[in-house]
Amino acid sequence: QGLARLDRRIAGCRACPRLVAWREEVARTKRAAFADWTYWGRPVPGFGPPDARLLIIGLAPAAHGGNRTGRMFTGDRSGDVLYRALYDVGLASQPTATHADDGLELYGVRVTAPVHCAPPANKPTPAERDACRPWLVQELRLLRPTVRAAVVLGAFGWQAALPAFAEAGWTVPRPRPVFGHGAQVELDAADGPPLGLYGCFHVSQRNTFTGKLTSEMLRDVLRTAATAAGL
Ligand code: SF4
Repeated sequence: QGLARLDRRIAGCRACPRLVAWREEVARTKRAAFADWTYWGRPVPGFGPPDARLLIIGLAPAAHGGNRTGRMFTGDRSGDVLYRALYDVGLASQPTATHADDGLELYGVRVTAPVHCAPPANKPTPAERDACRPWLVQELRLLRPTVRAAVVLGAFGWQAALPAFAEAGWTVPRPRPVFGHGAQVELDAADGPPLGLYGCFHVSQRNTFTGKLTSEMLRDVLRTAATAAGL
């Protein structure tokens, strides 16, 4: 109930003028291969059950992926890699994610991003990241009763997520932990169980095509985090 309501509010957000203009322009002009699609063209909320134990935090929706389909990591190459890996480790009902009604279910996992609108060149500004943080903080607060681990994909997500976890009630060590693939940090909470935070290279084509992130590396992080989350 709470998360569904939050997701609806996120989808109506127009706080960042540059991103509103971009997401709508992309939705209007489209990519030729998707000419018959009605693009979503709005902020893309998180995806997954409201009692998730494991959270996956990316960067921002892709212009012709989430911004087209309306679901995180759905309809783009990054999502192909992520959902395939989630399926392989038993956390998703199917290995592919093509559109919002394709029947995909995540088991105990929710996928979200620190920036909910597709940015030009996949690069949100620091101001846009900060403007979007309250949505992530609210999502974390709502997930707090169940979430026990989070995998953060890439340095941008890591830097955006740490202050959000702090605002949502977890204790983030000082100095702030540095991002790296395989980084692991335990975030304590004064009034609840700790949360394990795991760094993983982003599932972007730049990383997967070059072999910087292999499927095996991704599955390893997901397995470790899922075990820590009790999945
Ligand atoms: Fe709103 Fe976040 Fe989109 Fe900015 S990036 S318009 S804060 S949903």
